[in-house]
Amino acid sequence: MTMLNGNIQVVHQRLKAACTQAARPAQSVQLLAVSKTRGADEVRLAHAAGLRAFGENYVQEGLDKIAALADLRADLEWHLIGPLQSNKTRVVAEGFDWVHSVDRLKTAERLSAQRPVGLAPLQVCLQVNISAEDSKSGVDPAEVPALARAVAALPRLRLRGLMAIPAPAEGLQAQREPHRALRELLERLRAEGLALDTLSMGMSDDLEAAVLEGATIVRIGTAIFGHRAPKAAG
Ligand SMILES: *Cc1c(COP(=O)(O)O)cnc(C)c1O
Repeated sequence: MTMLNGNIQVVHQRLKAACTQAARPAQSVQLLAVSKTRGADEVRLAHAAGLRAFGENYVQEGLDKIAALADLRADLEWHLIGPLQSNKTRVVAEGFDWVHSVDRLKTAERLSAQRPVGLAPLQVCLQVNISAEDSKSGVDPAEVPALARAVAALPRLRLRGLMAIPAPAEGLQAQREPHRALRELLERLRAEGLALDTLSMGMSDDLEAAVLEGATIVRIGTAIFGHRAPKAAG
């Protein structure tokens, strides 16, 4: 068995164990493989190993991989999980299936206007600055309800839920806190009548905490593909 296959098996075991502990069905959590910095050849191997959904941080890098793997397009789901500038919305609306990082109405409006009619609505999450860090992108939690209502009304988007990248924390209890806060925010939006079903939270180091707090998509890079080389500047 290759290292990639072994890693994927370990991640599936961790997810299964966390779902069991949370008394949730194993199929209630989708594994999103974060393939940033990895070549299209590695994504092809991960697809052959059974993975279907891939997350990219950088728009152009993602588009290059989508093009290189065009023969698999119908069998792959591409998620943009990194920051999105408004001058890149058109290629994203045309190329990706999901965007997790919507944090401004202007970006959402452009994505909706630019989503080709021949494609299904673009699936989106609002990125929430759940750990209240100045340096992180994401909407302030207090501003999420108004933004969610506005985004949910856009015709070519389907607002699915919320995404967060909590500050790193040590230990399960500390890791659960921001994930719990994101879940409570989602529950509040649902109580206000928005039909949302997605909590995109949990990475290699905190997937158990995220699943215990209700994650429906975990975004896993390192635990699948190994450690990343630092990205070159530019
Ligand atoms: C890189 C990245 C991940 C994956 O992180 P790992 O620790 O490698 O699992 C998940 N989400 C986002 C937004 C990322 O940028």
